[in-house]
Amino acid sequence: MVCENPSKENLKTPGSLGFFCCARPNVSFRSNLSYLLPGKCTHRMIVVMDQNVADELIDNVTKRVQELGLKAHVIRGTERTVIAAVGDERMVKVESFESFPGVAEVMPILAPYKMASRELKPESTQVKVGPFRAGAGVIGVIGGPCSVESEEQIVQSAKAVKAAGGTALRGGAFKPRTSPYSFQGMKEEGLKLLALARQETGLAVVTEVMSTEDVPLVAKYADVLQIGARNMQNYRLLEAVGRSGRAVLLKRGPSASIEEWLLAAEYILNEGNPDVMLCERGIRTFETHTRFTLPLATVPYLHRKTHLPVIVDPSHGTGHSYLVADMAAASVAAGADGLIVEMHPNPEKAMSDGYQSLDFKQFQEMMNRCNVIAKALGKTFG
Ligand code: PEP
Ligand code: MN
Repeated sequence: MVCENPSKENLKTPGSLGFFCCARPNVSFRSNLSYLLPGKCTHRMIVVMDQNVADELIDNVTKRVQELGLKAHVIRGTERTVIAAVGDERMVKVESFESFPGVAEVMPILAPYKMASRELKPESTQVKVGPFRAGAGVIGVIGGPCSVESEEQIVQSAKAVKAAGGTALRGGAFKPRTSPYSFQGMKEEGLKLLALARQETGLAVVTEVMSTEDVPLVAKYADVLQIGARNMQNYRLLEAVGRSGRAVLLKRGPSASIEEWLLAAEYILNEGNPDVMLCERGIRTFETHTRFTLPLATVPYLHRKTHLPVIVDPSHGTGHSYLVADMAAASVAAGADGLIVEMHPNPEKAMSDGYQSLDFKQFQEMMNRCNVIAKALGKTFG
């Protein structure tokens, strides 16, 4: 086996599959699996177990992976169970896993992200939180204001989201603002109002967490932790939400490539949190007619590369309320597993992002349009 790129620099890359390395893709390694080679190789491995394999045999492999100082991730799909070994890259001597009872195959994963890749898990992941569902043919709609402002505002918004068929409420309590002089959010007071709105409506609550030290507080009130675009590469924060026990909505950084974004998701998955949703919210380009440029080809592209649900944010993606419903409909048509849309009882009076927020009637109309498209695609709302 030859590692394509076993440079010193690559040896330092943390958190990647400290696993095998191979010379060619799609090669089965029934023999010669005596060493784990280091390096940021593009070829890594997963252990694929026989169908209907006994738990005991899965445990055998898992235990051995752990003895080698690596993390074992067991992914149980409908068709197969696979075990991925994740850890710091270094020389680790192992015996061949292929000789273990119950092992069908040891396969390379070509993508630099592992846990997130379709190669590892061919079936689409569905994230379920309370009434909210996204992925595997179900579209989850998250609606609500940019920021939580008052009890009346958030409870009214929650009721309108529910009436229109949404299943989750958004609302920022900790706001990342470009200017330090702009409204920074109601913080814990805002979180309490979100919890109250959940109590009144049953909707799942999605809200942003901006720093590692706030994770326990936000996780106490929220069902889904949103990682904002500005924090997509805050790796300590990603690890913290990975350990939070809450589902995560990972927004794309405005200048992040898809690979960087999937590797950010990998940080969360690598902590043992499988409930990660990717959110396309637009990227920075030379174009100025919209706040960001919303690339919808991201949706089908991601579906090829990852099993994780893909949510689209047409509010930040366009920055104009008059473009939101069209882009929401286009997102559903492109195969989005969910939408996150800003809406407000009175957008002109919103304390943040009013210019891209829908009023309740516009939100309902957007949902009606998306419903028609979802139906044509054989999808349901969850
Ligand atoms: C938001 O959802 O209000 C927000 C700040 O989004 P982003 O991180 O995508 O800018
Ligand atoms: Mn906003």
